[in-house]
Amino acid sequence: MDHCIFCKIAAKQIPASVVYEDDSFLAFKDINPAAPVHFMIIPKQHVPTLSACNNSHTEMLGKLLALVPQLAAEQGCGVTTDTNGRETGGYKTLINTGPDGGQEVYHLHIHVIGGPRPWHGKQ
Ligand code: ADP
Repeated sequence: MDHCIFCKIAAKQIPASVVYEDDSFLAFKDINPAAPVHFMIIPKQHVPTLSACNNSHTEMLGKLLALVPQLAAEQGCGVTTDTNGRETGGYKTLINTGPDGGQEVYHLHIHVIGGPRPWHGKQ
């Protein structure tokens, strides 16, 4: 899509702090982070919004979601178990959808927001 900022990031026409890339997906840090760790994962294919998805997007959505724990761990906010057996770390995942859902960029993306609290912003 000619005017989509995330398509331009995926095409390397606009710089971004990329944390992961494969043939189908790109992950990059949010320019306005809401927490110590804040990145987004996008499909390289232009899908405007979650509300445009249906059964034909099942494989893409599954792969997108399955990237979250891997990349969260790599970015330092994965869930681990401490020496007392308690879970530590963690993150929120967020897909803003449509105007009332707070979506501003119309290219499907999942926010991964984590790191040591307190955070500001999207909670
Ligand atoms: P919201 O702004 O309510 O989170 P979205 O869910 O559509 O709406 O998220 C768009 C996100 O993209 C915002 O968090 C914004 O900071 C981020 N963003 C916009 N432009 C860029 C960019 N060039 N590089 C990295 N992140 C960007």
